[in-house]
Amino acid sequence: MAYNGYAIDADHYLDAGAVTRKLDALIRKPVYSIKPEYLREYEQEYFDKKCQKSKEMTDEAKNVIPGGVEHNLAFNYPFPIAIAKAEGNRMVDVDGNEYFDLLQAGGPTVLGSNPPEVRDAVIDLLKTCGPSTGLFHEYEYKLAKKITELIPSVEMIRFLGSGTEACMCAERIARLKTGKKNILKMGGGYHGWSDMLAYGIRIPGTKGILSHGVPSYCFAHTDEYFPNDLEDLERKLKLHQLDGGTAAIFVEPVGPESGTRPVSREFIQGTERLAHKYGALLVFDEVVTGFRIGVHGAQGFFNVNPDLTVFGKVVAGGYPGAGAVGGHKDCMAYLGAGLDNQGKKLHKAMCGGTLSATPLSTCAGYHMICAIERENACEKAGRMGDRLTKGLQESIRRHNLPFVAFNQGSICHLDTVGTMHFCIDWGKLWKVPEVLKQTGIRQTEMEHMGAAYMAEGIITLAGSRLYTSAAYTEEDIDELIRRFDRVFSRCGKIDTEIDKKLWK
Ligand code: PMP
Repeated sequence: MAYNGYAIDADHYLDAGAVTRKLDALIRKPVYSIKPEYLREYEQEYFDKKCQKSKEMTDEAKNVIPGGVEHNLAFNYPFPIAIAKAEGNRMVDVDGNEYFDLLQAGGPTVLGSNPPEVRDAVIDLLKTCGPSTGLFHEYEYKLAKKITELIPSVEMIRFLGSGTEACMCAERIARLKTGKKNILKMGGGYHGWSDMLAYGIRIPGTKGILSHGVPSYCFAHTDEYFPNDLEDLERKLKLHQLDGGTAAIFVEPVGPESGTRPVSREFIQGTERLAHKYGALLVFDEVVTGFRIGVHGAQGFFNVNPDLTVFGKVVAGGYPGAGAVGGHKDCMAYLGAGLDNQGKKLHKAMCGGTLSATPLSTCAGYHMICAIERENACEKAGRMGDRLTKGLQESIRRHNLPFVAFNQGSICHLDTVGTMHFCIDWGKLWKVPEVLKQTGIRQTEMEHMGAAYMAEGIITLAGSRLYTSAAYTEEDIDELIRRFDRVFSRCGKIDTEIDKKLWK
């Protein structure tokens, strides 16, 4: 076993090709999901009887909040659950039901929810200085220093309000530094919701078709490359030499959407080689992986030296204001608008915000990262992810289901329907409506599975992604596996239509 402080055992890095083949097979099979009679039972016996306060609250909220909830991850079937308490690996809803938390607020709480050491430091800060001043605070320096010590490629860092903002900032720096125009991102990957990067989201090859409300001209200089395909990446780099060059290659280091389509080590290392060859900056989006795969980032695990790294989530310890871009000094110079090392005046990339780098966000981030390092939390959470995935795989096999479970440390995927594994091939345009229809059907089934897990006391991310934290014990994981097993015992083939031509 070679974890060495990382969430992933380096001797057993997943075989991205083998997982991809399983996912390819999954989407060609009929849909298996929670059987309708059991879904009805969960709805009637759990949600209708035991979650009434959540239902009333979110129904009422629909009058003033579109859809009844503000956060994208909270739109759950059959209705959103309102959470009253969160601590460690548990959450309790307003009706008093207790859940295991595998959502982890979408990723930031590597230590579990609301760790006292971070909370106490934040309370002390609030008593003295309050959450924001608009001026420099010592914690800005402490957090910047800490991250630059932990991640060698990050020589300097700028804190921003969110991962979305940090990705926008990285784009601007890349264009100024390289003098080139285009941004290449991995198909299916998410780099926030800014106009230029909301491209090829969720499903590779979708270009702008899922980016409703964004005018197509915003994508004039954005393109996507297929995940885990260095040849495709190089083809796109060559192509863009003819129209202004490539300023940056954006990479989510475990694969798009937190590794929903996993990528190999060789692929990640190849992105660095190709970026250098074509004079583009390599931008690692470590919003999820930074301080989750390891305190030296996924880049430490893969031994890659990106020009820029984007952070979010953990960087503010689960508190608001979670975004940062860091990197090599010659790139970061464009945020200071000084002179470069040859004395040439640089244009400044305008990036920032009223509530960027507040005392609150930097204090919480600093104490969270120190505690993660001290407690070896990335490795602990990763070992729990490995145990959970192994248990799920055994249970799937026992019930003879087509589901695919895999993980990269504490980022686990339980893919029952393969919604995100489809892709769009523009050479076969006639398939596009059927692909979109299939993903819609499968999305609904994924939500039904999410409801079944919820009724068994497990909160997941959208019914398919499971983040573990250092707050889990082996006993908790074994209990979780028993609960998933109960749901799997209630699954079977669902009557859905597939146009056979899709796989021709
Ligand atoms: N990049 C990645 C890889 C992400 O997962 C996310 C958010 N889940 C973002 C960027 C955007 O971060 P934020 O939600 O803080 O804007």
